[in-house]
Amino acid sequence: MDLKDLTIKKFHQGLVDKNYSAFEITKAFFDYIEKNDKEIGAYINLTKERAIEQANNVDLKLAKGEKIGLLAGAPMAIKDNILIEGESATAASKILANYKASYDATIIKKLKQNFSVFLGKTNMDEFAMGSSGENSSVKLIKNPYDLERVPGGSSGGSAAAVAKNMAVAAFGSDTGGSIRQPANFCGVVGLKPTYGAVSRFGLIAMASSLDQIGPIAKTAEDAAILFNSIAGQDEFDSTTENIKYDSEKILNPKFEDIKKLRIGIPKEYFIEGLDEEVKNATEKAIKNLKSLGFEFREISLPHTKYALACYYIIMPAEVSANLSRFDGIRYSRIENAELKMQNLKDIYLKTRGGGFGDEVKRRIILGTFVLSSGYYDAYYNKAQRVRQLIKKDFSEAFKEIDVILTPVAPTPAFKIGEKIDDPLKMYLGDIFTVPVNLAGLPAISIPVEKYRISETDRTKKLPIGFQLIGQPFKEADILGIGRFYENSLI
Ligand code: GLN
Repeated sequence: MDLKDLTIKKFHQGLVDKNYSAFEITKAFFDYIEKNDKEIGAYINLTKERAIEQANNVDLKLAKGEKIGLLAGAPMAIKDNILIEGESATAASKILANYKASYDATIIKKLKQNFSVFLGKTNMDEFAMGSSGENSSVKLIKNPYDLERVPGGSSGGSAAAVAKNMAVAAFGSDTGGSIRQPANFCGVVGLKPTYGAVSRFGLIAMASSLDQIGPIAKTAEDAAILFNSIAGQDEFDSTTENIKYDSEKILNPKFEDIKKLRIGIPKEYFIEGLDEEVKNATEKAIKNLKSLGFEFREISLPHTKYALACYYIIMPAEVSANLSRFDGIRYSRIENAELKMQNLKDIYLKTRGGGFGDEVKRRIILGTFVLSSGYYDAYYNKAQRVRQLIKKDFSEAFKEIDVILTPVAPTPAFKIGEKIDDPLKMYLGDIFTVPVNLAGLPAISIPVEKYRISETDRTKKLPIGFQLIGQPFKEADILGIGRFYENSLI
């Protein structure tokens, strides 16, 4: 049984053709993970017992001759900031080390209704803050293509798990690039849906006006299947919209329709400091799309230069509010005998001081500062106004084109340790992904070439992807282009 080329569709076919049972494949994944994840560090926690139960349940259905859906039995990895009832959810933070989720996130509920199998919870930057995976309090995550390099972040574990064939697909969260950038570094596909397309209920909040859950998969086709199964309005998340998605368009796009989409290239995204390899790869993607018949136009997004500053004010402001709930009393606390003797303030200081890592503390402090009296107008309010300008840039551009193509990150996967001591350097890498979150748009990261991990010979050829940004709730456009693009690669 070769786990390597298993996409959701191939997995499903093998299952209904009885090449394997759901139990056998689940067991094979766990054996493979136990052997291979030691060097990668993609998983924080394997949810083996429940996974076997879920797989057996699917086999029972098959034995009874019941028809099963595409996702039934599909082994998936879930980022550790998404709640699965009864399982740990640490967000890779010490402060949640002992926490077990008491309910299912809405997307988990939906996946359970589709009878998916959850292999485990994936490693990440603490509370989704970071771009390299190095901010995990649990362990380092390594890029399967080059173990000296980062897998990207914050959903680094989810991307590495899919790239290394340790799951058929995975879910992550994206506040400023955390699905697209690690997918880009690991040679897989990552979709950040439109703000309001997918319920955030049961996602441990980072910055609520920016966060979205989305799939990380081997192909755009799989990303479409997964998106289709999790999108929709939810009574538990009032920011979800009542959009009637046309599943047919998402799942079976027609080339005649997709080919008509005009693609814009924003001149502000091809800046100084853009790595030569990334520039070449992006040009290659454009060339490939042109030969498929797509029409390109240069566009301008003039406020792009303010996006990083704007994001690094609004995001920490929301982080400081959201993370105040971790007070050492609710959710879980760091057990310490002497704590019991102390007053409330000491408990707060000890648990928050010892429970949060440096990057999380840095953002709470920054966020508290930009919201403080006297600075609120100068920073937070101003950033909110700039956010509107960035949004307007996109809506103006979408009057002339349908989709925007950009690089995902200025460099390919960088070396472990290269940026971790210089937060500003790390933040600069988010330049191409954060405008999308500020504007609430859908975007996808697609590998420029077909990358495949060779188990025996690591070529150290680093994957690079390109980003497609779509109009609100038009995920079908970017998924469709992605699918025809990947199908055209040999
Ligand atoms: N890298 C960005 C940050 O550190 C984005 C994180 C995310 O999308 N969760 O904030």
